[in-house]
Amino acid sequence: MSQLNPRRTIDELKELRRLTSDENGAQRVAFTETWAKARSWLREKAESLGAETHRDEAGSLWMTLPGRSEKALLIGGHIDSVPNGGWLDGSLNTLAGLEILRRIHAQYDGKPPVTVRLVDWADEEGARFGKSLFGSSACSGNLEMEEARSLTDKGGVRLPDALKEQGIDFERVKESGRELQNAAAYIELHIEQGPVLLDLDLPLGAVLGTFGVERHAITFHGQAAHSGSTPMNRRKDAFLAAAKMSPEIYRIAQRNGGVCTIGSCLTKPGIVTSVIEECRIALDQRHLDAAALARMLKEAREASERFAREGNVTVQWERIWQIEPMPFNETLINFCDGAIRETCGKSHRLPSGPLHDAAEVARTGVPTVMMFVQSLHGISHNKIEDTKEEHLELAVRAFDRLASKAMEWIAAQGGLSHFA
Ligand SMILES: [Zn+2]
Repeated sequence: MSQLNPRRTIDELKELRRLTSDENGAQRVAFTETWAKARSWLREKAESLGAETHRDEAGSLWMTLPGRSEKALLIGGHIDSVPNGGWLDGSLNTLAGLEILRRIHAQYDGKPPVTVRLVDWADEEGARFGKSLFGSSACSGNLEMEEARSLTDKGGVRLPDALKEQGIDFERVKESGRELQNAAAYIELHIEQGPVLLDLDLPLGAVLGTFGVERHAITFHGQAAHSGSTPMNRRKDAFLAAAKMSPEIYRIAQRNGGVCTIGSCLTKPGIVTSVIEECRIALDQRHLDAAALARMLKEAREASERFAREGNVTVQWERIWQIEPMPFNETLINFCDGAIRETCGKSHRLPSGPLHDAAEVARTGVPTVMMFVQSLHGISHNKIEDTKEEHLELAVRAFDRLASKAMEWIAAQGGLSHFA
């Protein structure tokens, strides 16, 4: 019987940190030399355990243990980081996946009942070009080619040119979609990057899906007037109406169970000697449930119209960005929950605020689930990002159990004989 060794995952995480970090944190920004170095380090490890490795057209690295069935369990991660990033974001999933490949390879003597593939997605973070989920959205077919073609980094380098330096032909990135041909399930482990599990004092949680997002600019128009000579009852104060939105979105979020943020506020003319003529706020609303998200949006819109009427100003809405919620697969969520309970007794189900590669895979119809491990300080994208080592070990164990359950499920679907 082969042995999973979660301690090795922690050692490898530290090895990767030594190799690709400086005093400010991880520096594995996609399509840079440090990233390429991390990549070849990972690839060597995968090859030495017996996996077939290749890079797809979008630059994602696939490490495959071919099984008796072509139907594949995919395990996802990303070794790229933001500049000055933490040691766990993305690399925990990648290295836990590597350890699971080792365990499976040993257990089945190199020939598991179903194919198992670890994918290291290219440029999950979008740190250099401002576009996240590059490799996975190319693979899912959702990448906006026009938009991506014109992206440039701070130095003015275009994305297609940066890709060329890595031997990637931008015009062919969507051909990577063929990698999903035999995908029967996709699982991803990730640090939570938030405080929910920390506050519940639980190491692990099963992720229900990623939030849908509605992002709007809301502009209130009033009238500029002298701060000294305009009586209070004669004002058309655009800021007064906009400001009422602030407590209102807390009530809306509480009623509907989502999150709402007013992230910016611009005023014109923006001088203290004038009543505010124009106030533009940006509202971000997120929910796991599409109907609830639509309700939150409707309630915010109605409230803004009410406040405009009360203040004798007008209001205009403009959509900035929107994405549908992406609920994960019910059966896999149950497996994930079960794997966690078998490992540490207690589980919790929670949605994901941040987007992940898993959402892109789920969008293509491949049954998907994620597992979260507690984040200390609830913080990520920062060198102080951390998780207790005992929790990391539990995460690798629970994730491995999830992999086994998913493999059995895939094998059963194909009418394959039960596991030997
Ligand atoms: Zn990540």
